[in-house]
Amino acid sequence: MSRPDSPRGEPRSRPQPGRPEAHEHEHKHEQEPQTPTGFRQFVLKVHSRCNLACTYCYIYTGPDGSWRERPHRIPEATVRQVAYRIAEHTAAHRIGRIRLDLHGGEPLLAGPGFLVAYADRVRAAVREAAPGARVDVTVQTNGTLLTPAVLDRFAAAGIRVGLSLDGGSADLNARRVDHAGRPSWPAVRRAAGLLAARPETYAGLLSTIDPVTDPREVYRSLRRLGPPALDFLLPHAHWAAAAPGRHRPSPTPYADWLIGAFEQWWADREPGRPRLRLFSEILALLLGAESATEAVGTSPLAVVVVDTDGAVEQVDALKSAYDGAPATGLDVFRNSFDEALRHPGIAARRQGLRALAEECLACPVVRVCGGGNYAHRYSARTGGFRHPSVYCADLERLIRHLADRLAGELERRTRSRTRDGPSGPPGVHSAQGALTDVRLPVVDEE
Ligand code: SF4
Repeated sequence: MSRPDSPRGEPRSRPQPGRPEAHEHEHKHEQEPQTPTGFRQFVLKVHSRCNLACTYCYIYTGPDGSWRERPHRIPEATVRQVAYRIAEHTAAHRIGRIRLDLHGGEPLLAGPGFLVAYADRVRAAVREAAPGARVDVTVQTNGTLLTPAVLDRFAAAGIRVGLSLDGGSADLNARRVDHAGRPSWPAVRRAAGLLAARPETYAGLLSTIDPVTDPREVYRSLRRLGPPALDFLLPHAHWAAAAPGRHRPSPTPYADWLIGAFEQWWADREPGRPRLRLFSEILALLLGAESATEAVGTSPLAVVVVDTDGAVEQVDALKSAYDGAPATGLDVFRNSFDEALRHPGIAARRQGLRALAEECLACPVVRVCGGGNYAHRYSARTGGFRHPSVYCADLERLIRHLADRLAGELERRTRSRTRDGPSGPPGVHSAQGALTDVRLPVVDEE
């Protein structure tokens, strides 16, 4: 397997002759099938500003400045048009279940009543156009504006809440501060407590990895908050913007961190162990399943974003690459989501292995890794995305570690079955046990 020169070095791939560099990901030569599979997840930007200023935020301090031009809150007329387009798409593709993720900025800045009304509007439109289709709704929030009354409203509307935080203590959340530099932790701790008391509305936790922290402590502290699910996110980085921690002595600081967290999770046999999406996805992929997340695997992209001005966009992570990277030029007033499916940037991400760099195609773990998150492949030198992930070495090491642990577990389980009969000894910690419900109700992005 060929390798990039160094964690900080640019990848070796170059744009192919005759291909425009700035849009190298917009490959037109490998067409989608005539009727590509429809979108199943709609990330709906409700409010374009945030009341926090996390030090690692890629939206407000990254290269994409499009947020400055957008309406703060999505106008009612745009909400109606989004609902119409989603219903149209759900009906046309006969999709039985879709997911709405109400996002920001901080979505609760729009007010809980507005969020409930948005969800109701989409549900009503889908009910009319595609009777029987289910619409799951989640709000992804920083938690600072969550109150018992807000949760009551969401619970009554069947809306679940995902919380973004980095750990279960003030120290672990030191990077999550407001615009005056004050810590968000006291408010977030209250929010986590409220959610733990309302498990029917608790979707899970999203945490961005800080490699200077102790992953075991992070896992244990989050575990104490009682989430049904959690996920660890790699900070958005690419070949021109290295992730924090690359100066550390280890060549794979993020794999080191994730393996530490994995071991803590894998050994956790207490009731209430949360589902952990990244690890469950990798284990499922190792067992031959398809991926359901952008982070790993090669399943076609099923998510689309609509911003507060009605613009149809690709995922937010691309904002970390260059100004305008997520843009499609489409909007819900003039364009259907079917047009978005055919947009070259989105189509390129639905091509599985065909969209990957040569280094990835020659890689022994490619079917599990899938080249990693698309945004992490960007190279400013080529202006494109057909490169291995900037986290390549971390991903390979993590996947190999999980493969070893899974193989050992399956072997142990086989030996137990042979010795003790088909059910094995009581309490055996099976690999399958780790895989129950690998499709988690939390989103990829904060
Ligand atoms: S598939 Fe993943 S681990 Fe393999 S070369 Fe590509 S980015 Fe690296």
